[in-house]
Amino acid sequence: MREKRLAVANLHPALKTWEEYVTEAARDGHTRSGMVLGIRMALLGLRQLGLDEPPQDHSLITVVETDRCLPDAVELVTGCRLGNRTLKHRDFGKMAATFVDVRTQRAIRIATKEAADRKARELFPAAEKEDALGRAYRVLTDEELFKSQWVLARFHPEDLPGAQPARAICIACGEGVSFHREVVCSGRVFCRACAGERYFEPC
Ligand SMILES: [Zn+2]
Repeated sequence: MREKRLAVANLHPALKTWEEYVTEAARDGHTRSGMVLGIRMALLGLRQLGLDEPPQDHSLITVVETDRCLPDAVELVTGCRLGNRTLKHRDFGKMAATFVDVRTQRAIRIATKEAADRKARELFPAAEKEDALGRAYRVLTDEELFKSQWVLARFHPEDLPGAQPARAICIACGEGVSFHREVVCSGRVFCRACAGERYFEPC
């Protein structure tokens, strides 16, 4: 019985401190300043939503507005990930994320303050920029680092975890397209690549 309880506990880890997450990330070689900032942002998001631990039922969706360290940090802390559709990437080029509790529909968007980098350089003027940021992100307060705003976040039903993947076939390339990502032009169904959004060229 005790072994069973321990196994369950391991599957449902409680939140750790941000320092523990940074140490955990360092084992994978992610020690950049952005990782520290992202971990702190994710923890703040959970706290703002009143969550004592990452939900295990896919009821938390996080939208990250940049790539690089932030998605990794969010996945580490919240368990949200692309593979189960609880992590969304909207590439706005911003160090910002929105944490959405789909049970309550409460959502908090957290963005890094522009002044945070300046404060970091002021705190450690002799350090190289990346080093100064990494050290400053460990000592600045949440209020100095972030601004938060309650928002209304809407998702299409097909974007939610567990949605059944509707499927269409592109008439140009013959490839299947799931989750209503197809484009209809003059009644004809295309994938987004064939409709003009292709990021590659055949060679
Ligand atoms: Zn196509």
